[in-house]
Amino acid sequence: MQKGKINVTGEDIFPIIKKFLYSDHEIFLRELVSNAVDATQKIKILNSKGEFKGELGDLTIRIAVDKEAKTLTVSDAGIGMTSEEVEKYINQIAFSGAEEFVETYKDDTNAIIGHFGLGFYSSFMVSENVEIKTKSFKENTKAVHWQCDGSPEFTLEETEKEKRGTDIILHIDEDSIDYLEDSKINELLSKYCKFLPIDVAFGKEQEYKDDKYVDTDKDKIINNTAPAWTKKPADLKDEDYNSFYKELYPATIDDPLFHIHLNVDYPFDLTGILYFPKFKNNFEIQKNKIQLYQRQVFVTDSVEGIVPEFLTLLHGVLDSPDIPLNVSRSYLQSDRNVKKIAGHITKKVVDRLKEIFNKEREAYEQKWDDLKLFVEYGMLSDEKFAEKAEKIFLLKNIDGKFFTFDEYKEVVKENQTDKHGSIIHLYTNNADEQYSFIETAKAKGYDVLVMDGHLDAHFINQIESKQTGVRYLRVDADVIDKLIEKEDGFESKLSSENEKDLTPIFRSQLPQEGTFLISFEALSNDNNPIIITQNEFMRRMKDMSKTGGEAAGYYGNLPETYNLVVNSNHDLVSTIKDKMYTDKSADIDVFKKEILALNSDIDALNKLKEGKKEEEIPQEEKDKAEDINKKISELEAKKDKVLEEYGKDNKLVKQIIDLGLLANNLLKGEPLSKFVKRSIELIEE
Ligand code: ADP
Repeated sequence: MQKGKINVTGEDIFPIIKKFLYSDHEIFLRELVSNAVDATQKIKILNSKGEFKGELGDLTIRIAVDKEAKTLTVSDAGIGMTSEEVEKYINQIAFSGAEEFVETYKDDTNAIIGHFGLGFYSSFMVSENVEIKTKSFKENTKAVHWQCDGSPEFTLEETEKEKRGTDIILHIDEDSIDYLEDSKINELLSKYCKFLPIDVAFGKEQEYKDDKYVDTDKDKIINNTAPAWTKKPADLKDEDYNSFYKELYPATIDDPLFHIHLNVDYPFDLTGILYFPKFKNNFEIQKNKIQLYQRQVFVTDSVEGIVPEFLTLLHGVLDSPDIPLNVSRSYLQSDRNVKKIAGHITKKVVDRLKEIFNKEREAYEQKWDDLKLFVEYGMLSDEKFAEKAEKIFLLKNIDGKFFTFDEYKEVVKENQTDKHGSIIHLYTNNADEQYSFIETAKAKGYDVLVMDGHLDAHFINQIESKQTGVRYLRVDADVIDKLIEKEDGFESKLSSENEKDLTPIFRSQLPQEGTFLISFEALSNDNNPIIITQNEFMRRMKDMSKTGGEAAGYYGNLPETYNLVVNSNHDLVSTIKDKMYTDKSADIDVFKKEILALNSDIDALNKLKEGKKEEEIPQEEKDKAEDINKKISELEAKKDKVLEEYGKDNKLVKQIIDLGLLANNLLKGEPLSKFVKRSIELIEE
């Protein structure tokens, strides 16, 4: 028997393995099983080349748990190792600068394992003692038995082993007895080994006999050795892709929308299948579903840094031996291969969307509602994708028709170009709430888009900044003739004095909540007497603040501000005006006369000022002007007060304001019930 010390330069690796790799203990099983797979594939290759002439026999890799002996054994019928090979591959571990490296990458087990080729040694994370029994395929070599208790000392001796291959026997330590549970092993196998290319057996198939399940003689194979991504696209049908999707995500109910089969061997090696799931509104749930494999061995399901961030919304598998795992994530992003891979995947995604768009426009439109969120997210977060996807983005109008940006521009250009030359795209984010605005727009022959998605507020902002000459305005952002201003406006039936007098009347009846700015617009009599709108810019900022971003803090805290637009040409407004003058002229004319007189005093003073510089005007004159202006405002205030008092009880004014609020879904609770009562009274009158 040979005794020796594992050749570790500098440091004792075992404490380091245990200390730093703690969080990822479970990967030991992946490492052992993939070593077994490698050894098995090697014997197959040697056999096919004629370098190994014996029987291949059963190549199944077997995993066995012995609870009593507290061992976990991984057995293969691969190439095995000779005594010299054990010496070379197991005992000599190049390990310089170990501690420094481990410190740097302590959170990244894959990097450490990759760097040191420590796959086999990861078994010491869960074992107090590890044995190797191995017999090489080479003729005239003896089987060997290696054993090590976690100190750098090992023993190596000849042994008897009937079959070719290797058994790795782990004596599981006290802290890790979980790994003796079948359920735990099954969990790990299904996570890491589900698609390994060689059969892996754990336990036996069961059958139902005498009221219970019992083991049969048949091995239970836990993996699918030929997963869909390793096959040729020509050999697969849509159903095959869908059923592989189910295999990957057994808990998912929906079928995916589309798939992309990746198959590149130059200048990097990449295979895989990506799926577009139905995109729901919750991003976080959807992310991190792409699984990364290296030659069918599961590595990770967090692929940030490998694919552009927005693509992490896709599902599926990527398999590439060219993605370096023995580096940190930040290094990964600057790696040339990884950059190329990311670029390639982005291109494939766009190409696939384009292909469906071009060849199957109808199917594309049908799936668009489920796809839109993804495309928008991609366009918002990835400049390159935005450029490419612009041609395949669809706008949907209120009638459910779809248009590309270019198509839509053509549709609305003639009718919806305003007098400044901008093409106005009208949109709604809630067709029910903005119903009356949509109807008004339609009555004018205008088209209205539906933009009710989670990201639309941000998205509109982005596309507007890119499409010159196009403006996006929500239907309720102003009265329709202001949204799309044309040359031929209506003449107003109200003078500016009328508007001045009517303002306090409307002000006296404003709702308690929100800030309302009163304005008068000369619209046609078919428009409602009062229209309530919300400025596009302010509202958009507020909407965007809801989904985060720069605007969040400032705009999010501002109160809601509305425009209360009085249609100065509506008959009801004329009625209110006429009645106001009949009832109140006597009272307000007193103030008006006085104001008129004071105004002529001001005019006289202004005449005196003519031609003089500011410093040449005597102080006395300045004081006088100030005094008169003060008096004027006091009189205006008194006049307004009279009108406000009068307006407070004006049912008609209240009624038309409420109707405006109602059209915007802003009338609720007590004001709504008062409105109903008042309506009945008015009908009865
Ligand atoms: P890596 O697999 O990264 O090379 P390991 O520490 O896991 O590092 O294994 C070191 C070497 O030991 C392997 O390269 C292989 O030559 C040999 N080896 C490990 N496990 C087996 C096995 N089951 N059968 C044959 N050789 C093995």
